[in-house]
Amino acid sequence: MFETCIAGSLPKPAWLAETQKLWPQWKSQGDELRQSKADATLLWIKAQEDAGLDIVGDGEQSRQHFVHGFLEQVEGIDFDHKVKMGIRDNRYDAMVPQVVAPLKLKGRVHAFEAQLARAHTTRKLKFTMPGPMTIVDTVADNYYGDKVKLAFAFAELLNQEALALQADGVDIIQFDEPAFNVYMKDAAEWGVKALERAAQGLTCTTAVHICYGYGIQANNDWKKTLGDEWKQYEQVFPALAKSAINQVSLECYHSHVPPHMMKLLEGKDVMVGVIDVASDEIETAEQVADTIGTALQFVAKDRLFPCTNCGLAPMSREVALAKLKALGEGAALARKRYS
Ligand code: ZN
Repeated sequence: MFETCIAGSLPKPAWLAETQKLWPQWKSQGDELRQSKADATLLWIKAQEDAGLDIVGDGEQSRQHFVHGFLEQVEGIDFDHKVKMGIRDNRYDAMVPQVVAPLKLKGRVHAFEAQLARAHTTRKLKFTMPGPMTIVDTVADNYYGDKVKLAFAFAELLNQEALALQADGVDIIQFDEPAFNVYMKDAAEWGVKALERAAQGLTCTTAVHICYGYGIQANNDWKKTLGDEWKQYEQVFPALAKSAINQVSLECYHSHVPPHMMKLLEGKDVMVGVIDVASDEIETAEQVADTIGTALQFVAKDRLFPCTNCGLAPMSREVALAKLKALGEGAALARKRYS
């Protein structure tokens, strides 16, 4: 009951990359960088296990950014001529690579870190990849000329890698779709279908993470414009409830998402955000257990997975470690309270 997990990313140690940045520069190259990525992955697996998490991940230590890390292994993408583009409906600017030719995988994308993680933990292993719609929103298209076509082209590539990750022994494959909360109509119309294409044929557990973004200033400012009740999920959850995806992750603690939105996900596992990623304040076990208690009004016990609201990548290592511990302890307390 209440199997704990994180949304995906964790801070990179200072010896691996610049700290507290969304697009950090690596601190080394070649074999040395590869070794550093491996060391950081193992460190975070141990930290997640020590915190008592039931489902662990690689903390995304081997990728610079959650979208661009995947694109680096895609043929047809020009990384040498990045352009500035407003992303998430112009919420903030990013330097993004361009699509310049038909898309094709150069080879495996995440074999190294997935196999490494699998070899070093007996707990359930979750692996994250960007969802097709979010990729489309984080790249400049100079070739396909159609968002839906481009999304399905990416979905095919994601599917190839997902099937390979499943063969590596990954238990849960999660696609991150923050764009679902920005382009709600498109998400319901074709975003969920593209997501299902990415997950096609998978027999492991499949998941989607939909959030209000990392705890960076641009996102915090945007959240202030969303009013007292955040109803974005209302549009996409019914489509997800009908989809083949098994688990859905949503923000809860310290958000203005009405908890009754979770009812729209009946029949799905719900990863409930019980840890705020936009504040360095550490949640107490009581606060985490209380959030789980609130969610229990709308989600069945065996379908509730306490999780972080979003990734912890831009936070300090110290804060992230304390938040992992709070998640583990809060879920343990909730098991006592609600079993
Ligand atoms: Zn997120």
